[in-house]
Amino acid sequence: MPPKAGLTPYQGKSRCFGEFKCPVCNRKWQSANSWANMGQKCENCKGDFVYPYKQTQLLKPDEDHINRNKDHPQDKCQKCRQLGRPCNGGSWR
Ligand SMILES: [Zn+2]
Ligand SMILES: [Zn+2]
Repeated sequence: MPPKAGLTPYQGKSRCFGEFKCPVCNRKWQSANSWANMGQKCENCKGDFVYPYKQTQLLKPDEDHINRNKDHPQDKCQKCRQLGRPCNGGSWR
């Protein structure tokens, strides 16, 4: 199923920084591996994908490099699942 447009504030093609809030348990988290129209799952609920309520573009390459090496929950990331590989260019766990 192709992702629907307009699910996220950011609609570009690059990876960006997303801020998420679970509507079920109100857990908040942030991810530097956020994409347009792609959600992530809440670690507590493991239910439906949660879409970021706020997204900002990653502007600093340094920051990008750090984030690439950071632990990223691939099983909870819609983009990773769609790609079949880590969306941040890292290695598959
Ligand atoms: Zn939750
Ligand atoms: Zn991902």
